[in-house]
Amino acid sequence: MAIRKILVYGDEILRTPSKEVHKVSSKIKTLVKDLRDTMYSANGVGLAAPQIGENLRVFVIDVADEDAPPNPIVFINPKIIKKEGAVNSYEGCLSFPEAYTNVRRYANVKVKAMDSSGRSFVLEATDGSLLARAIQHEFDHLDGVLFVDHARNRFETDSVLKEHNLPPIQSEKLIDEPELEDQISKVQSQELPE
Ligand code: ZN
Repeated sequence: MAIRKILVYGDEILRTPSKEVHKVSSKIKTLVKDLRDTMYSANGVGLAAPQIGENLRVFVIDVADEDAPPNPIVFINPKIIKKEGAVNSYEGCLSFPEAYTNVRRYANVKVKAMDSSGRSFVLEATDGSLLARAIQHEFDHLDGVLFVDHARNRFETDSVLKEHNLPPIQSEKLIDEPELEDQISKVQSQELPE
């Protein structure tokens, strides 16, 4: 068991696109174990390989309740094959200690990936569930994309980052998502009390 150091926002490795895994070798199996150990020791629900300094397309998620037995899901070379709907999501990231902000996410995603024994599987997560959001968050890490790039309000997010002594948003990395924002705003205005 190895608990690895989690890289913090500002580290270039977090912005570097990760490479596909060609073979689920013993090196990859060790990486998966380290990801799991490091994620649990940090009380996270997900951790991607670049966060522990490895630019490889691997991440681990566990959205089980705290009092339930651990249920880690390993994703190797994941592909998002369907995404639809939109939700506002209040998110954090182990690479952004203590900093949380609102981001835009798809409500439903379908992902195809390999597990730690090299078997391929398809998983669908719906209704803006924690799993649906975590898949998108961790998947982004493999492309060097960070959750603050999806910020709904960059000024608010910048002040949160500053409060936690983290570098500001990189405006050139911000992702334009007018359709998601539109859907989120519509749903929210329907939810407002009369
Ligand atoms: Zn993250």
